[in-house]
Amino acid sequence: MRFSRLLVPTTKETPNDATLASHIYLIRGGFIQSVGGSGLYNFLPLGKKVLDKVRAVVKDELDKAGCQEVSLSFVTPASLWQESGRFEKYGKELLRFKDRKNNDFILGPTHEEMMVNLVRQTVKSYKQLPLNLYQINLKFRDEIRPRFGLMRGREFLMKDGYSFHASEEDMKREFDLMEETYKKIFTRLGLAFRVVDADSGAIGGSGSKEFMVLADSGEDTIVVCDACDYGANIEAAVCQEKEFTTDTKTQVITMKALYDECISEIVTFVLPESEVLEEVKACNAVKANDLVDVESPADADRHVIDNTLKECTEYVNPEYADISAVQEGDACIHCGAELRYTKGIEAGHIFQLGTQYSEPLGATFLDENGKAQPMVMGTYGIGVSRLLAGIIEQHHDEKGCVWTKESAPFDLHILVSNIKDEAQVALGEKLYEQMKAKGVDVLLDDRKDRFGAKMKDYELLGIPHAVVIGKKLSDDLVEFVTREGMVKEEVSSSAIEALLNERF
Ligand SMILES: [Zn+2]
Repeated sequence: MRFSRLLVPTTKETPNDATLASHIYLIRGGFIQSVGGSGLYNFLPLGKKVLDKVRAVVKDELDKAGCQEVSLSFVTPASLWQESGRFEKYGKELLRFKDRKNNDFILGPTHEEMMVNLVRQTVKSYKQLPLNLYQINLKFRDEIRPRFGLMRGREFLMKDGYSFHASEEDMKREFDLMEETYKKIFTRLGLAFRVVDADSGAIGGSGSKEFMVLADSGEDTIVVCDACDYGANIEAAVCQEKEFTTDTKTQVITMKALYDECISEIVTFVLPESEVLEEVKACNAVKANDLVDVESPADADRHVIDNTLKECTEYVNPEYADISAVQEGDACIHCGAELRYTKGIEAGHIFQLGTQYSEPLGATFLDENGKAQPMVMGTYGIGVSRLLAGIIEQHHDEKGCVWTKESAPFDLHILVSNIKDEAQVALGEKLYEQMKAKGVDVLLDDRKDRFGAKMKDYELLGIPHAVVIGKKLSDDLVEFVTREGMVKEEVSSSAIEALLNERF
């Protein structure tokens, strides 16, 4: 590709609402464009190229693991979500709308119902199982406060996969296979990540694991043990039992538990003063979607007491649950070593679903004895557009993006400093054609701009390697640049071909 023909509107301006490096550089580098500042983005040619590269890695590893790609309708009839019971339960993030015939529809934030519907119409026998189907498609979630660019947009590209099995045991085998497959995907994309235990949230199910891209800017707090491999989202983290005596000072937190948009109930949560309430655990304890503080604790309907206060007997009909957050220094549940906190970006999530969707939706198969059984399911997601942001959060410097090998929009950037210098142009064109012929994805900066501006764009765009052809060509020298660390090597112009042939 010639830079002079490429639509890449780079800018020095930092967008007003941007605080994260990925948000700033993806906009400044002309990869994406905000649409009305509402959590919606257009992908410009460079952004689309990166998205396709990331998508290709995801697809390649899934296909190797035996998964099959499909593409489901983005608009989902509400009737399917009514069958599963999620149409009413799911909060305002679910965009609901009507068509001209007054039928209810949604824009899917996730596609369990759609995929179960596909499978229940086509799979009848145990002989057709197991099956792992996935798609890489748009999703919509009506975030109340979209922010951080691609990190928390309203429309996003997601890989969502669903597996169907004749037994729990076979589903667990596939869950492990998906964990290994996801590790390969994240490793190929050049990411430092950690697989942690997670809360299952609105998807439901029993065991679930998150793939956290490690970054200080991450929104999730994760609890990790350095002595063993234990790691968990703070929402799901557990530690060895802490002991409190009967005279421990207790802290009463009163909150309103919201079960759905209509029913609410006032619950008091009681825990030792030294502990902190973990809201997701508290929600799970009362099967609520959300918790809201209330002013007056007088008339609580329920009292939920932290497990650490087993001896607390002040309340009538107390319920006990683990509602406190694991703190730094608490003892690891596996090995007893001290736990610590770190930050991560959730970029993948895998769930053991069981029969939670197949039962209400009637997705059954005939077993070897001809008896109808509900299919056992797993579900597996990767935030593909969020991964772009995750890669940049981990790989950038004060000048711009530093793309990893498999995510970079181009493999090589050839920069001709002075387009009026015939020798520079001739060498640039020659290398460009040779590399293209080899199948290397190469960008030739053939613009009439000043050298300084071109170099700034190179640094901002962050292609892993560049050949800079400048004034020193008269001394028979060019520069080979590695974007990570901006390492520059002077190479004689006769040796550059051999070097490129060796590197690419
Ligand atoms: Zn440990």
